[in-house]
Amino acid sequence: MADVPNRVCIIGAGSSGITAAKALKEKDIPFDCYEAGEQVGGNWVYENKNGMSSAYKSLFINTSRERMQYSDFPMPDHYPVFPHHTHIAEYFNNYVEHFNVRPHIRFNTKVMAAEPLENGGWEITLDDGSQHRYRALMVANGHHWDIRWPEPPFEGTLMDQSSTATITRYPIPTRGSMFWSWGLVIRLWTSPSKLRASQQ
Ligand SMILES: Cc1cc2nc3c(=O)[nH]c(=O)nc-3n(C[C@H](O)[C@H](O)[C@H](O)COP(=O)(O)OP(=O)(O)OC[C@H]3O[C@@H](n4cnc5c(N)ncnc54)[C@H](O)[C@@H]3O)c2cc1C
Repeated sequence: MADVPNRVCIIGAGSSGITAAKALKEKDIPFDCYEAGEQVGGNWVYENKNGMSSAYKSLFINTSRERMQYSDFPMPDHYPVFPHHTHIAEYFNNYVEHFNVRPHIRFNTKVMAAEPLENGGWEITLDDGSQHRYRALMVANGHHWDIRWPEPPFEGTLMDQSSTATITRYPIPTRGSMFWSWGLVIRLWTSPSKLRASQQ
């Protein structure tokens, strides 16, 4: 691995990527964090320019603020117990400022490929075509943007389009008959997030 710089690559600056960055910084381990969007916070940036956020306008967290916050950076006391998505985005923004992580993040930069090298390390290809080598790779690219359709596929026909809370920015389907909507509620809304979406 002699020709591979002793540097770590982090893909994504959502809540996972920024805390990985902070941990590396604390240990003086050199790294670059690539973020497809123009801000930190990933899913919590409403209408994120990266096109990957599922946050909808009325979204509040369903884990309490004490449960969700980083142990070394409490959420402010004036936040509600279950803050709005705007608070969460603000909180992640304040986190990178507080720990001075922002200068290590390259915004508006998408990682297109990550290939393992024969003798160890990784070669990263960015959306500008440039390639960079790293000793280690930390993938913090989230997953809600990666739509998982029902398997096996739904056999009937939908009047509109099938969707789940993780791929629509609206808490409930906006079109279609009541019958269709209830069909979705029964079939798909089985997790706490989806139950919350149905309430909100
Ligand atoms: C509707 C909804 C409600 C939720 N509610 C809660 C809640 O109440 N409490 C809770 O704890 N969790 C909740 N979650 C879970 C949520 O996934 C996590 O809170 C958190 O956003 C996960 O952070 P992450 O960093 O892993 O991913 P993300 O927040 O998705 O961030 C991933 C980042 O990686 C970047 N990225 C992706 N691919 C690339 C690439 N190829 N190159 C460069 N950058 C890339 C993206 O631009 C993004 O900024 C909810 C999720 C959804 C969808």
